[in-house]
Amino acid sequence: MTHCPDVAPPTPTSRDLTLQAAVDVLGSATSVTVLCHVQPDADTVGSGLALGTALRRKGIPVQVAFAAPAELPVSMRDLPGTDLLVAATEVATEVDLLVAVDCGSAGRLGSLASRLGGARRSLVIDHHRSNTRFGTFNLVDDTAESTTAVLTQLFDVWGVPIDADLAHCLYAGLVTDTGSFRWGQAGTHTLAERLLATGIDGGAISRRLLDTHPFGWLPMLGSVLSTAVLVPDAAAGRGLVHAVIRCTDSAGLGAEEIESVIDIVRTTAEAEVAAVFKETAPQSWSVSLRSKNSVDVAAVATTLGGGGHRFAAGYTTAGPVEAVVAQLREALD
Ligand code: 5GP
Ligand code: MN
Repeated sequence: MTHCPDVAPPTPTSRDLTLQAAVDVLGSATSVTVLCHVQPDADTVGSGLALGTALRRKGIPVQVAFAAPAELPVSMRDLPGTDLLVAATEVATEVDLLVAVDCGSAGRLGSLASRLGGARRSLVIDHHRSNTRFGTFNLVDDTAESTTAVLTQLFDVWGVPIDADLAHCLYAGLVTDTGSFRWGQAGTHTLAERLLATGIDGGAISRRLLDTHPFGWLPMLGSVLSTAVLVPDAAAGRGLVHAVIRCTDSAGLGAEEIESVIDIVRTTAEAEVAAVFKETAPQSWSVSLRSKNSVDVAAVATTLGGGGHRFAAGYTTAGPVEAVVAQLREALD
């Protein structure tokens, strides 16, 4: 069986930066490419657009992009700053500074990882515990709720005023990465309050990002949830629940519909670990993992070539569905 490891060793000269040092790197850049991760979520896009907007306001030439898919997910199209987005093929091959936002490893850049070589310097801004420090410079805070929360701190040190447009982008990452504030921490609501005070409509942003699906989502759920299997003795008896989304189930639907499934599957009381196998091409899988308390799924995903957070992680793999389920069960034991 094969899988696609995307954990690159750290660059030999890689260095972790303070917020002030990261501001100095950004402020001295003569041109910037900001890259979001493949299959982008609202944290990576919100971060990319907020940073792109801040750089543009400083008069620094900037492009923002992600490798795949070709189009921005529908739910993110009203984020301010989408005019900064360029197609993956349009991303400059040479640039002074490349910034990766919300990417735990270079593999998360997809085909645009090729642009790291043409950048004079690179800066990784992230909050993933499994971050491989693949930049020349890294600003990684694994205690932050979202990459947009890291950016808020950066903007404060930089003296970038957070107006409603920036707040909209920053809130998008905060609300999605905290599961609509279900797993917020001390400080999360203070940050939300500050962003909401700029006048943004938090309810409308949440509804658009998290609570809007086309009708075809409902029959897809019916089909996919009927594949759910509970394996009580998996994960050393803590229990695993898994479901499979075939290409035929998700045809015509967007990333938002596919990504919503894990949030239903993970509610299963009898299982500590939940997994959704998302078929991206025949026998190719993107796998979402979630846990509740006692299993570090970032560690599990890392052994399978992926990464993520303690309670939310993922990886890609290939093979017949029975084999990829068996591979996960083995990694969990
Ligand atoms: P999701 O299940 O929402 O796609 O991903 C959950 C978490 O795992 C996210 O923080 C995401 O960054 C991480 N993740 C998902 N897939 C991969 C992967 O293929 N490689 C790495 N390194 N991280 C992943
Ligand atoms: Mn994130």
